[in-house]
Amino acid sequence: MISHFHPDHIFGLLEKNTNAPVFPNAEIIVPAAEYKWWTDPSLIARLPAGRRPLARRIQAVIPNWKNVLPVEGEDEVVPGIYFVKVPGHTPGHTAFLVSSGNTQLMISNDAAYVPALCVGHPSWHGAFDQDGPMAEVSRRKLLDRVVADQMMICGSHFPWPGLAKIEKDGAGYVLATVRAS
Ligand SMILES: [Zn+2]
Repeated sequence: MISHFHPDHIFGLLEKNTNAPVFPNAEIIVPAAEYKWWTDPSLIARLPAGRRPLARRIQAVIPNWKNVLPVEGEDEVVPGIYFVKVPGHTPGHTAFLVSSGNTQLMISNDAAYVPALCVGHPSWHGAFDQDGPMAEVSRRKLLDRVVADQMMICGSHFPWPGLAKIEKDGAGYVLATVRAS
């Protein structure tokens, strides 16, 4: 499952120099909105120069793979794991909700990529968010859901050990790391 097409989230799928698939027999499940945005041929001209090489590499490689499955909406993409739309970081950025019995884990991916900043100060807009205001709306909605349902949360760039619970704290949220007992 791929959350979005930033290099630190997809380059592990590509061999360094040849772009050959590292996992040719795996089914690679991606958000349809993310796939459509990055593979639109008219995108290159609309991007700032510094971001064009990434879009060119994506367009040259990923549409040619036969094992990429774009998924619309918030489907259960594999048993017990659901896509959750959190656009803003990128247009199709997606979290993964893992559910087992009464226990839920929200893998927030980059919705709160540096938790010390994004969880404590959800209104701060980082340069990594393509659309800051939209990312903030998505971040608050996701974090409110994690609090309301008392889920655990982990994100792509959370510090070790990565697993936490969160609570409302004034205008922001506070993160309490879950440690193995
Ligand atoms: Zn990332």
